Amino acid sequence: MTDAITVGGLETYLACPRQYEFAHVYGLAGDDDAEADRIDLLRRAICAALEADPTEPDALVETARTRLAALWDDHDERFHSRAQRRHERRVLEATLRAYADRVGLEHARGVERLRAAAEGDPELVGPGRTLSCTVSAPVAESEPGDGTDADPGGEKTIEANVDYVYAAESSIVAVRFVPTLAPLGLLRYRSEWDGDVETLFADHFDPDADVFEPSPIAALFETAVVLDGLRGLRDRLGLERRTCRYVRIPLADRSGTSVNWVRNSVEASLEIVDLTDVYVDHHTYGMTHEHRNATVDGRLERVVGRLISGAFDPSDRWERIERRICPRCEYAVCCQERIEREVRFDG
Ligand code: SF4
Repeated sequence: MTDAITVGGLETYLACPRQYEFAHVYGLAGDDDAEADRIDLLRRAICAALEADPTEPDALVETARTRLAALWDDHDERFHSRAQRRHERRVLEATLRAYADRVGLEHARGVERLRAAAEGDPELVGPGRTLSCTVSAPVAESEPGDGTDADPGGEKTIEANVDYVYAAESSIVAVRFVPTLAPLGLLRYRSEWDGDVETLFADHFDPDADVFEPSPIAALFETAVVLDGLRGLRDRLGLERRTCRYVRIPLADRSGTSVNWVRNSVEASLEIVDLTDVYVDHHTYGMTHEHRNATVDGRLERVVGRLISGAFDPSDRWERIERRICPRCEYAVCCQERIEREVRFDG
């Protein structure tokens, strides 16, 4: 394997290594996610509005709404009815308004500030702006029964997509629009690494602990990749004195949406999560003065080492994978572990 690994691929690998093999080694990953496609329309509309350098929230909303209307006309999704199609459009527009009122103008100004402060004319707004880091994978441990040989390790590029980068007071901040914050689990409700989050991270990788939380772990890996990529961008822009931060904004969080069916109106609120605080290990920060986490970075290297060595056997976490991941897996009909489990004789 020579291509870069995406953070989405890493999340799949954490959930089930065999699923990663089907999706990314055999190239069977599908992209038929209607909600993700809908979010992508809003993402593109907001990015277009940020590029237009709006001076007030209404201007941002208007530019984005115009772009959204054009994208929506070409959007081909099967809805139950025209009423549902109209409703989904209203939800997107309400989310757009919530974004503009909460942070849109501040972020648009931050994009312009960063552009003005940077040397050159950097590409700051996506969608799909890639930040990457290079991971030096150690020699992979060959484990009994996983079907791999020890791997000599090597360097691998890990890529993460963000939607834009802007300047805050003393930081540069990468923002990624996501459907919801639900995959963050505990990370959504904590503001520091020490304590619950540190324990969750350790327990996920402890074969004796009954903890299996691939999505929050993947979010911490993603934060490591984004911050490292952002540090590279920051240095190339000549802004070495700034710190780097990473924020997620959900665009399809139904818990933040309220519908008035009588007035036929929709209102949305926006919860924004800055993953930097929950990721930062203050011991490492104290030594490097960078937002880093030695535990997460070290584990990321080991997971990447296992992945590039071809360790796709899910046996060592089978019970958890079978319980949590297999029931929703689109490769179940061709997965030998799953099939063997289904046709075995009990007793
Ligand atoms: S069916 Fe289960 S074991 Fe097989 S690839 Fe899917 S999640 Fe993994």
